[in-house]
Amino acid sequence: MGKINVLPVSVVNRIAAGEVVERPASVVKELLENALDARPTRIDVALEQGGIALVRVVDDGAGIEADDLPLAAAPHATSKLRVAEDLERIETLGFRGEALASVGEVARLVIRSRPVGGDSGAEIEVDNGRMGGVAPRGLPVGTTVEVHQLFAKVPARRAFLRAAATEWSHAAEAFVRTALAHPNVALTLAHNGRPVHDLPAADSWRARIGGLFGQALADRLIDVEGRDGEVGIRGFVGRPDDDMASGRLQHLFVAGRPFRDRSILHAVQEAYRGLLLSGRQPIVFLQFSVPPEMVDVNVHPAKMEVRFRDPSRLYRLVLSTLRARFLACDLKAPLSPPVPAAGAAWGHAGVAPRSVPTFAPFPDSPGGTTVMAPPAVAPPPGPGGVATPWEQDDRETRVAAPGGDEMAVQMHDRYIVVESREGIEVIDQHALHERVLYERLRAAVAAGTVEVQRLLVPETVDLSPAEFELVGEHADALARAGMRVEPFGGATVIVSAKPALAGNVPAATLVREVLGRLAASAASAGMLVDEILHGLACKAAIKAGDPLSQAEVDALVRDRRRVQDSHHCPHGRPTSLTLSRQELDRQFRRT
Ligand code: ADP
Ligand code: MG
Repeated sequence: MGKINVLPVSVVNRIAAGEVVERPASVVKELLENALDARPTRIDVALEQGGIALVRVVDDGAGIEADDLPLAAAPHATSKLRVAEDLERIETLGFRGEALASVGEVARLVIRSRPVGGDSGAEIEVDNGRMGGVAPRGLPVGTTVEVHQLFAKVPARRAFLRAAATEWSHAAEAFVRTALAHPNVALTLAHNGRPVHDLPAADSWRARIGGLFGQALADRLIDVEGRDGEVGIRGFVGRPDDDMASGRLQHLFVAGRPFRDRSILHAVQEAYRGLLLSGRQPIVFLQFSVPPEMVDVNVHPAKMEVRFRDPSRLYRLVLSTLRARFLACDLKAPLSPPVPAAGAAWGHAGVAPRSVPTFAPFPDSPGGTTVMAPPAVAPPPGPGGVATPWEQDDRETRVAAPGGDEMAVQMHDRYIVVESREGIEVIDQHALHERVLYERLRAAVAAGTVEVQRLLVPETVDLSPAEFELVGEHADALARAGMRVEPFGGATVIVSAKPALAGNVPAATLVREVLGRLAASAASAGMLVDEILHGLACKAAIKAGDPLSQAEVDALVRDRRRVQDSHHCPHGRPTSLTLSRQELDRQFRRT
């Protein structure tokens, strides 16, 4: 193997840089943590080309003395720890003293700072490992750190960076996580000169969540709070019908740090068991308060994970707190405005009746929507005086003719029970309606005849930067599916049209669902429209728990025969189960 050498500092730093600095998002995270440790009132973040060309973070915090600038950029130099025991009680976000040194090894790093009480400022530059001298500069109080051309001189690492759009979306997520963890600090984010977020210092967590994801979403969240001795949690969770295709809106924090933890997310999933369809993800924003000696944040170089001393205690606390909260609140109850009676959704003012019942738990905002193209078929009148097959004893001789009238009955506001040639069929109303809508949309897209509903009052939707980027990429595919979505400043988009089939489901719900799926899917270009259609169908479909009139039940059952493959909803879950006559006979010992 040869002689053993002690590695030169620059090599050690490069190795460390590999752990701390993976991509522009890690730079954003480290610089934001440094800025926050300086106790600022505001921080401005600007990126160019996804952060590959530039990450700049400006704060108005405590600043750095000119004499300390070379140390700030030196490895294992920190103002946040003095002795090993300090590691047991870390109150700052940083403590390893290696972020700036690591960044300086793999980019051109410029630090400008003026400390509080100092009468001017100074600047230092580290160009890919070569540190320059300290030069005086006239500056306002606070610190500016710039990272130029990340990995430009480290081709092996540069090769691992993705397209600027991808790096940008990771970097924006890092910003979002930090902004969530520190609501009391004003923060802005800009990309290529375009402002994306402008978050004032918020006096509540809900206000900060609203600033990032839209007030409408924030207003619907359910607050939760629980305690077990010195361990506590508080925050917000989403209502079951605000479920998502991905876990993008699942955020956990401890001591001002975002962290990932599969066990805690599992507890959350358990709490929602029975409330969500399988594969759907709830919205969660949770803060944990744990005594410092019960949590180790020094287990991951980028501090993305933490280790709790008693993880099962936290698991139980999360599960019991959420469960108790769900029991105490009526998850189906409307917030405001009230849900119209089931019948009212049919003839919603200004909206012509559709061939398939479409209910939204929340009606559109005042101003409403209008159907521009005439809807396909008006709902056929339901058979008068429908008898329930269960009450009749001569039923067993009656067999539904294929394509003929079937007796259908809604049960528990979620299943439709039908008599069929083979026996008794139980249909999941949501799964079937989703399949019906999906097949219609797909046929319409293929034929280029998607009916669109132009909104009289276009709806604005606040998106995350990552979602906003997706809209730009997929505007054409969205348009083919009947969604007209355009940029509207910052990360806000304006929706001026949606597919007529989506009825009065709010545009924001549709857009979020579709983007969530696009973000989570690795679908090839050709499959993207399909992914969008699945998202639209899922949100536009009636839900489990929606009461249906008999005419609506009949219309849905009739539609079933018209769509192909109606036995599976688009997720691949079954839409119906059959209890065969044979099986019934066997159970009742008739054979
Ligand atoms: P750490 O944050 O782990 O201490 P860093 O390499 O990130 O290590 O930073 C080194 C030191 O530089 C910090 O301990 C701090 O004293 C100083 N520093 C870095 N950024 C700032 C900032 N924005 N404002 C004030 N001081 C800073
Ligand atoms: Mg740091």
